[in-house]
Amino acid sequence: MITLFRKAGAFLSNKCKAIAGAGDRAWSRLVHAVRRFRFVARRGGFRRAVRFTVYHLRRAVVSHREGLQRGLMRLVPMAAAVALLVVSVHYWTTFTLAYEVNLNGNNVGFVTSEAVFEDACNLLSDRMAGAVYAAPEDVEYNLTLISADAVNNADEVCANIVDATDTIQPAVGLYADSRLVAVCADETTLQQALDGVVAQYTVDGENQTVSFANDIQFIRGLYPAYKVQTSPDPDRLAAALTVQLTVRETYKQPIAYETKEQYDSTRYKGYKGVVTKGENGIEQVKALVTYVNGLETDRQIESITVLKQPVTQVVAIGTKQYTRSSAADNGETLLWPVVGADASNISSVYGDNRGDHMHKGTDILSPRYTPIVASEDGVVIEVGGGSGYGNYCIIQHEGKLSTLYSHCDSVAVTEGQRVKRGEYIACVGDTGRASAYHCHFEVRVNGEAVDGRPYLGVSVN
Ligand SMILES: [Zn+2]
Repeated sequence: MITLFRKAGAFLSNKCKAIAGAGDRAWSRLVHAVRRFRFVARRGGFRRAVRFTVYHLRRAVVSHREGLQRGLMRLVPMAAAVALLVVSVHYWTTFTLAYEVNLNGNNVGFVTSEAVFEDACNLLSDRMAGAVYAAPEDVEYNLTLISADAVNNADEVCANIVDATDTIQPAVGLYADSRLVAVCADETTLQQALDGVVAQYTVDGENQTVSFANDIQFIRGLYPAYKVQTSPDPDRLAAALTVQLTVRETYKQPIAYETKEQYDSTRYKGYKGVVTKGENGIEQVKALVTYVNGLETDRQIESITVLKQPVTQVVAIGTKQYTRSSAADNGETLLWPVVGADASNISSVYGDNRGDHMHKGTDILSPRYTPIVASEDGVVIEVGGGSGYGNYCIIQHEGKLSTLYSHCDSVAVTEGQRVKRGEYIACVGDTGRASAYHCHFEVRVNGEAVDGRPYLGVSVN
């Protein structure tokens, strides 16, 4: 370029010298004419000086016409060369040499050096959330002359690479605690998915707040295209998110009744019976309950209102000692109801725990059909069958005492029948709730079962 300028300069100065050859002579005549004009003007007046000068100028032009014409003829191409030079200089300063970068056959910009493309790749890696952009191997650089305006910077090349690469896509990532959970084209889709998760955990109740325990972020950036979904995978979303629900719950709950035992000297020792049946109360509770992913993690009781007080269960414990005089009104023990049996045949006694109830009689084991006799004189007041007792009869004796004989194979007496002590009334069986052949013998005082052993002369301890 500089050489070109030098050559142009030398060319111009040569041309000027050629013109000067003819011009110099005309010039000296011109200078001479001006001097003469001043001289003549001083001596002979202005008008005369003008005439004199015009004469000399005409002489100068006429005598050097050819030289001046030749000079002008040479000036025209010179001016054209100068104009061309000016245009060229303008051209050369607005255009520049640059590399055209081709990626898989796609032009991704014009760069002044390979470093610009490398910068663009690094920018892309920075902007790609959750992945690194590896520049492809087959990058082509073609040296070309382009307008200086068309040269791209790294940022523009980066954008062009994205446009030309179908494996990278601008999208929005959903991050939970800095972990990428889902990528979608827009935030709205991600927000809708989050709302869906919240709705899953929403329950009925006042003052409800549903929030994510995670730090949720939407990050707009470039993502590998295979990661971009039309909508987030709900299972993945549910697994990555922790939803905390706090809700005020109002509910009723029972108040358990207490049980109080009280001694009763009017009942025989061993007696245990409910005097007042216990009843649960009801209370209304208001609580602020926190659930994390549907599981309760905290329950703050705000208030408790008792709607119904519980009723304490009262159990009477008999303390009255058995005395011989109480065994029977006539002061004698009762007769063993099963013929041939004694204390060694007793398999269960009064007070035994039977799970759902307390055993109220004395079980006397004996083979089937063994005769059962009346323990004392009395009247048959009840004969029955089909219940847990199986076949049974009850004899009312003189005074307060009555006796019951059950699980009989058959009963031989009828209601209202008067029986004597030792009289045959039934035979041993296993009817009703019985697991073996035996007689369930109950002694009752005023209709209330008591321990039968003292009445049979068997020691309680
Ligand atoms: Zn029994």
